[in-house]
Amino acid sequence: MPLKTLADAFHDELRDVLSAEKQLTKALPKMAKAATSEELKAAFENHLEETKTQVERVEQAFEDTGKAARAKTCEAMEGLITEASSMMEEEADPEVMDAILIACAQKVEHYEIATYGTLCTWAKQLGYKNAYKLLKQNMSEEVSADETLSGISESVNAAANA
Ligand code: FE
Ligand code: FE
Ligand code: FE
Ligand code: ZN
Repeated sequence: MPLKTLADAFHDELRDVLSAEKQLTKALPKMAKAATSEELKAAFENHLEETKTQVERVEQAFEDTGKAARAKTCEAMEGLITEASSMMEEEADPEVMDAILIACAQKVEHYEIATYGTLCTWAKQLGYKNAYKLLKQNMSEEVSADETLSGISESVNAAANA
């Protein structure tokens, strides 16, 4: 279907982020399993729970568009997850693997922040007030997740460099 209006582009991008978040609900448990640091494991498990709620918020955000909440494969997230998966197959010291997992996870968070940034800007322009509120909530959680990972990286990187 051709994308004629900003509303069409918004709906398409919403489908993309729905796919991205759904992909993450499958990837995060693997990352938690691969992590050795208890703090990092907990951060992944916590963000997994947040991500499940984010999926629901995105589904609710479709209501403003009047169109169906149907995902459309986010190829960028597929790529980020593929890269993380191949890194997890590398032979690495546990502390080094933790540092790598944080690096992979922060790429994901930054990608999500960029996506929600655009979606919030478009929702505002389109007057989609409820969608804006929901997407802003998701964006705040991604920012917090990223900050949490930066915090954990301090001790993880030091241990990896020991
Ligand atoms: Fe997310
Ligand atoms: Fe995407
Ligand atoms: Fe890369
Ligand atoms: Zn996230």
